[in-house]
Amino acid sequence: MSNTYPSPVRRRCVRHANCNASVLYCTADWREEPVPRIRVLPPELISRIAAGECVERPASVIKELVENALDAGAGRIDVRTMDGGRELIQVVDDGGGMDRDDLCLCVTQHATSKIADDDDLFNIHTMGFRGEALASIGAVARLEITSRRPESDVGHMIRVDAGKMSEPKPVAAKPGTTVEARDLFHAVPARRKFLRTNQTESGHITEQFCRLALAQCGVAFSLRSQNRVVHELQPVNDRRQRIADLYGAELADVLIPIRREGGGVLVEGYVAPPAESRGSGKWEYVFVNGRYVRDRFVSHAIKEAYRSLIDPRRYPVAFVFITINPDVVDVNVHPMKTEIRWRDSNYVHGQVLAALRDKFLSTNLDHGFQATREDDAYRDRVRKAMVDFFTQSRSGPAPVHHGAASAGPRTTQEDAGEMPGRAESAPGASTPGVESTTPPPSLSRGDFAPLIPGLEEAAAPEAHVSRALQVHNAFIVAETVDGLMIIDQ
Ligand code: ADP
Ligand code: MG
Repeated sequence: MSNTYPSPVRRRCVRHANCNASVLYCTADWREEPVPRIRVLPPELISRIAAGECVERPASVIKELVENALDAGAGRIDVRTMDGGRELIQVVDDGGGMDRDDLCLCVTQHATSKIADDDDLFNIHTMGFRGEALASIGAVARLEITSRRPESDVGHMIRVDAGKMSEPKPVAAKPGTTVEARDLFHAVPARRKFLRTNQTESGHITEQFCRLALAQCGVAFSLRSQNRVVHELQPVNDRRQRIADLYGAELADVLIPIRREGGGVLVEGYVAPPAESRGSGKWEYVFVNGRYVRDRFVSHAIKEAYRSLIDPRRYPVAFVFITINPDVVDVNVHPMKTEIRWRDSNYVHGQVLAALRDKFLSTNLDHGFQATREDDAYRDRVRKAMVDFFTQSRSGPAPVHHGAASAGPRTTQEDAGEMPGRAESAPGASTPGVESTTPPPSLSRGDFAPLIPGLEEAAAPEAHVSRALQVHNAFIVAETVDGLMIIDQ
């Protein structure tokens, strides 16, 4: 049947790539062309597009291969890389292996032994379940898989190059599986260009390796790069020991254990004293049912627990392991499974916060305290502000500035005991140091708000401020009913 409608056209600017402004600016240079029709993409292109989701860089290949080894029940996993994983990534495990038929299927897209139906999708007990990693790696690299089941006398080997699989060959092999991925992204040169230097990629690999090894401390791991041993980890019962093996005993020894159980959520692990804070957020390791995740609710809870204990520009060191019933957490949110969705995120947030806070309240956090230079500078500024406050309080009025707006104020509530100058100022009497006349002690922070910008937002609602002063255009020092409050604006 012939089409009675003219075929739809679109205008395309021939001078500028991706220019949609032909009508307005490029009137001389546009041409009309037919709107392309929908087409189904060829299978190789489909798998390369899919591969982009879970194979971002060599470290993501290692994640997928090691997770497969863990799912196969391996007790030992050896990882080897050459040229930052660009030339070779090899993962050897002693797990359950695959027979000939499984080996042929494992590189097919959406082929998995880990889930069978809809219900399983919300009851995941394995690291993998999407059945796409091996197919994806096979679509963008030269893949060789050798596997033997322990009960079988012989192993088999297959090769996949740019999505094309060879016939399986019987080979002599140890029980378990060896996967080698060579020339990563040779089939997608555009992608290869996005890889960074070998050193940077090796850094990502080591970081990825540490996350996997932290999650499974009962498994022996090794990591070799250019035939050099980076990590050699014995299986251990104690997570602190695994942390020591990865990051050194100096950190592991000062870690504070945390544990809280309730409402079907177990929060455990180790957190570092505030003095161990770092300049990067990478030191926050959160695992949910053995899977490393980045979760904003858990992160917020950790930050909240450390609030006012560390400089807000720094990050705590924390290794938090959450065990929760798999049917109340959705892990199928992100192709790399590093994000999750909680059924009750507030509850999890509360449990993590309480686990840390309770521990902090019963722990001497000064243990092993060594101030950094930044901490020293910060403390000096606060000390100077306080000295000024009290000197000014005694020696006459000081100006109240109305300058700086308060973005993300820091609040330090300190019990100052008997405050200097307090005895001199009977309630209701005029107080030197404040621009206005002294308000009675029961006045709330709101009464000072028009006077000192930032006080309204910064002071806790229950803080009854009896007098307040802004010093150095940076700090608000306020006397409260039961102590002293310093707000860094
Ligand atoms: P998924 O892990 O999501 O199932 P993969 O593509 O990673 O998908 O692996 C496909 C299947 O291949 C797995 O379900 C598993 O049965 C098998 N497999 C992969 N790696 C191994 C391994 N190291 N040992 C045993 N079986 C494996
Ligand atoms: Mg997998």
